[in-house]
Amino acid sequence: MCVFCAIAEGKIPSKKILESDKFLAFYDINPQAKVHALVIPKEHFKDFNDVTPSVMAEMTTFMQEVVSVLGVKNSGYRMITNIGVDGGQEVPHIHFHILAGEKLGKLV
Ligand code: AMP
Repeated sequence: MCVFCAIAEGKIPSKKILESDKFLAFYDINPQAKVHALVIPKEHFKDFNDVTPSVMAEMTTFMQEVVSVLGVKNSGYRMITNIGVDGGQEVPHIHFHILAGEKLGKLV
């Protein structure tokens, strides 16, 4: 089973930030910033190429709530979704990284 499906179903523990019937936000196990959260839809989609516009629309509202809960909405944050081999995606279940809590090095 996909590791993030197992987390969504509670079969693998996670440090939860916010949960709804369709989405889950939890802390990354290997943080790359002072705050490093992951947001997933509970439904399995491999990556951004696969996800439906309606799920993305609902996930946008959920992610806006997550950054409020994290307290980084006004201080700022970076949101990243890696896709495929060249994008460096390791877990094939769409997820958005939210990196925050410090001044981040510029990527682009
Ligand atoms: P990506 O390279 O975009 O696929 O990112 C996968 C992310 O999932 C990495 O930042 C990992 O540290 C994180 N990760 C993998 N397994 C777990 C887990 N069990 N709990 C929390 N984060 C995880």
